[in-house]
Amino acid sequence: MQYEAVIGLEVHVQLKTVTKIFSRVPYTYGAPVNTLIDPVVLSLPGTLPVINKAAIDKMITMGLMFDCRIADICKWDRKNYWYPDSPKNYQISQYDQPLCIGGQVEVELPGSGRNVMGEHKFVELTRIHLEEDPGKLTHFKDYSLIDDNRTGVALAEIVTEPCLRSSDEAVAFLKALVINLSSAGVSDCDMEKGQLRCDANVSVRPVGDSTFGIRTEMKNLNSFSNVKAAIEYEIKRQVRLCQEGKKQEIVQETRRWNADKGYSISMRSKEDSHDYRYFPDPDLMPVKVDEAWKADLKEKLPERPYDRQRRYMDELGLPYTAASVLIQSLEFGDFFDRAVAVSGKAKECANFIVNDLMRELAAAGAEGEGSLPLHQCRLTPNHIGELVQLIDQGTISKQIAQDIFSEMFAEGKMPSLIVQEKGLKQENNSEELEKICAEVIAADAVAVEKFKSGNEKAINAFKGPIMKATRGKANPQVVDELLRKLLAQQ
Ligand code: ADP
Ligand code: MG
Repeated sequence: MQYEAVIGLEVHVQLKTVTKIFSRVPYTYGAPVNTLIDPVVLSLPGTLPVINKAAIDKMITMGLMFDCRIADICKWDRKNYWYPDSPKNYQISQYDQPLCIGGQVEVELPGSGRNVMGEHKFVELTRIHLEEDPGKLTHFKDYSLIDDNRTGVALAEIVTEPCLRSSDEAVAFLKALVINLSSAGVSDCDMEKGQLRCDANVSVRPVGDSTFGIRTEMKNLNSFSNVKAAIEYEIKRQVRLCQEGKKQEIVQETRRWNADKGYSISMRSKEDSHDYRYFPDPDLMPVKVDEAWKADLKEKLPERPYDRQRRYMDELGLPYTAASVLIQSLEFGDFFDRAVAVSGKAKECANFIVNDLMRELAAAGAEGEGSLPLHQCRLTPNHIGELVQLIDQGTISKQIAQDIFSEMFAEGKMPSLIVQEKGLKQENNSEELEKICAEVIAADAVAVEKFKSGNEKAINAFKGPIMKATRGKANPQVVDELLRKLLAQQ
């Protein structure tokens, strides 16, 4: 019997707000333990929560990005549970009326090879609701420590329909979330900083069945590779139980993934929603979400990343690889668009950004910090646009452009200024160049013989010395033509 997997994800995304969701405490990653707290965060007697409007803004933006229906009111419920990660013993969340309902996320599945575009597919969302993050517990042998820095941070929970069918689809969905949410400024989605965490629900069923099997849930998977491995392990485990006639051993439960050892173990049987005694939070008024508020945020919505990818490929003729690199962040896409506006040359601008600029940014990044962020470097789209224009007009060679690139990256000078200061204008004057070509030919009789006996590549032997004599400024096309003319006369 063949089995297929059915997967639904619940993804927690930390919203990019300056302060926490119900208090005025700013949140910064990596602050000393228990310093980002105040009486509201700790729920001291007499304190009341006050909603941070920015959190609702980010949620609505996310809902618009994914074509969700946005509820008319943003209503709050208490999810009651007793666990030391919550000082209140309940979490403020949304139960029966999530802010965003339905919607879908466009996902690119892995291609058949590197640099091959994969199939695009829409993943259906059930809902997205707003809630507060609990604190962080660190467990030791016979005690645990509580850090309330994260307590009360604004969190969105994105729930998908059980419409995913493989671990690859699940990972592709998460990657699509990351580029969409970071482009919209909703979340930085840095998994290493816990800004995106995923629970994976997995069941299996015989191929062709329309009913779902019993699902298990793996909590808090915090990297793409953990998501992939945990899902694959669980699919195998369930299929094996089915094949061995032990289907009844698959029970609805929460399992903990052990990333080091590569297996999961049962943590607890799954709680039902009635266990949480949800009820509307009497401390918070529902917030009305009117049309004007939504319209204002819709206006500010950026182009969706995969729409941008299509525009770059279909309208600007970019190859898939460059287009998919440029859509990874709004910053790079916008930078590229502006460079193209200056020069009118899309492919050339994309090349400089995807190859040269990204290489320089990687080299300039602080140790262990990754690349230098684009907005911190001194290059502007005007630099790239002008550089491309200088090549296009024949003012400089591509080779010289490479040298100029490093210098303009380091110093922020415009390329035309560097050309002027250093006298880097390309030598197009064929009279001058012809003299140099003739000298170089005269100095290398061996290469002349080789070329004349039919070895086409021997012509390259002259080009190095010519570039050296002109300090790289000779127009390569003019040089090639001159060499062929002179060699024909030999
Ligand atoms: P809870 O919040 O109690 O975990 P939900 O009903 O909200 O439960 O479902 C959570 C997730 O489980 C959703 O992403 C949903 O798509 C997924 N899911 C539901 N049933 C199944 C199933 N039989 N197999 C796999 N995933 C499932
Ligand atoms: Mg769940």
